[in-house]
Amino acid sequence: MGTVTEIRIAKRTGFCYGVREAIDMAKEASAAGKLTHTLGQVVHNEGVVNDLQALGIRTVDTLDDVARGAAVVIRAHGVRPDVMERAAGRGLEVIDGTCTWVIQEQKELVKLVEEGYTIVLLGTPKHPEVVGLLGFAPDAIVVDEEEDWERIPKKKKMALISQSTQPPWKFEKLAAFMVARSHELKIVNTVCPVTIRRQQDTLDAAGAVDLMVVVGGRSSANTKELTRLCGIAGTPAIQIESVRDLDDPAPFDGRRIVGVTGGTSTPIEDLHAVAQRILEIAGTPATRARAAELADAAFAVAATPAGRTTSLPTAAAS
Ligand code: SF4
Repeated sequence: MGTVTEIRIAKRTGFCYGVREAIDMAKEASAAGKLTHTLGQVVHNEGVVNDLQALGIRTVDTLDDVARGAAVVIRAHGVRPDVMERAAGRGLEVIDGTCTWVIQEQKELVKLVEEGYTIVLLGTPKHPEVVGLLGFAPDAIVVDEEEDWERIPKKKKMALISQSTQPPWKFEKLAAFMVARSHELKIVNTVCPVTIRRQQDTLDAAGAVDLMVVVGGRSSANTKELTRLCGIAGTPAIQIESVRDLDDPAPFDGRRIVGVTGGTSTPIEDLHAVAQRILEIAGTPATRARAAELADAAFAVAATPAGRTTSLPTAAAS
């Protein structure tokens, strides 16, 4: 017998504005009749990639797969400057979906290089955003977990900058660590405010429920961080990629109120499906019968529309 009577959605959920804009640019280009591609998956979310495919938008791994004159959308993570040049050189129509925050990071890196700093970049080494950023500062030292930090040399003039989705506590800790390694230390805080707000909203939600469900890519750093924060709030959490991972009611045994949150690449529609599914498999008889209605109600009170971000409707949904 299920015990869940209520679902609470974290305040700000759905795509971050950077992801949403890149997806919308691809949809708009396709709607305008352009042969449209995205360089790499816009988000690591099967549903989104399938939606785009249904609109005729292809994901390609390399510019060589894009025919001359066709449109190629650069995703929110951005790319190295030479990739942009190569795309233009091949006669492609480049639609730059690089998030404005990432563009700011790229500009900051160029300045730091010009000013002669030894740059430390806090980030996941092979993450596309980091790969793109290194195109602007090829000598930057990329570090991630604490065990990497001993690799940071002692230099007179050093700068610290971050991949957008790194947790703020890690950035602060690394800044403190670097104080002893340099005479002049310039700190450029490029942790994205969306990431910070989402973490705060997740902590707030976790503090008021019996169990949290975190929805997002298994390898997504910002999703993993949300799961970790639930633990810090003292609330058990399960992390899933999509509603398809929810077939076992056991984790919900004895829980009454369940919270739902998601990473910046998780569409709000996925969170809605998860909310409904939790009620269907683990709700009390009364809540099971009204699962769809209660999931709608949870979203209606979760946030202002501005806090609930999705993308332009697909052809299938419109
Ligand atoms: S997390 Fe922030 S920096 Fe990264 S794409 Fe989203 S809005 Fe842009």
